[in-house]
Amino acid sequence: MQLSKVYKITGEIVCISNLHIGGSKDSIGIGTMDNPVIKHPITSDPYIPGSSLKGRMRCNMERRLGRYGTSREGKAEPCNCGKCIVCKVFGTLRNSGIGPTRLIVRDSPMTEESKEKGRRFMDEEGKSIYGVKHETAIDRKTGAALGGSLRPIEFVPADTVFKLEMNLQIYDEDNENEMLNFVKRALKSLEETYIGGMGSRGYGQIRLRNLKLNDEPFGLESVSF
Ligand SMILES: [Zn+2]
Repeated sequence: MQLSKVYKITGEIVCISNLHIGGSKDSIGIGTMDNPVIKHPITSDPYIPGSSLKGRMRCNMERRLGRYGTSREGKAEPCNCGKCIVCKVFGTLRNSGIGPTRLIVRDSPMTEESKEKGRRFMDEEGKSIYGVKHETAIDRKTGAALGGSLRPIEFVPADTVFKLEMNLQIYDEDNENEMLNFVKRALKSLEETYIGGMGSRGYGQIRLRNLKLNDEPFGLESVSF
């Protein structure tokens, strides 16, 4: 098996709604915030982990193609067949001879423009651009709001922009067009669903813009299936 081509996919992720990707509260100290967003340990700027984007794309494509695995308890879990395109592109846990995971998704930092906006807001308003909302916890059985249990949730505000970067590695045995279309479909699925947490409450809606494939602009309009 030989690597025959590498596609670099770049672009921008624009937040249409507020975004919450949970971070660890250990990293910012006790007593500050129960549900912080994930931030870079040194710069403290929020970012979107590559694993988060990749996981969402994988999940969407498993649903679309009906490629689930099933655990012993009968729960849906990631496909681990080691043969299908989902496994090839996103990887498997077991060594199945399909070679390396084809898609490498980088962490997405905020654009310089968005960082600057955050700094300006801090200078002018004296507070962080990242908001905190108190969300009601819902009783899973009855759907009723649980009294007195508003949870503070930190979020990155709508209009924040992050940089997208991923590499798709094509091996000599791969169907290049099929794989590329599959990845475009997976990208489009991000716009159709959400990223991060609490998507069903409207968080994490995004739009992809300025998409480029090896520095050539491309769109997702033509993507079908
Ligand atoms: Zn599979």
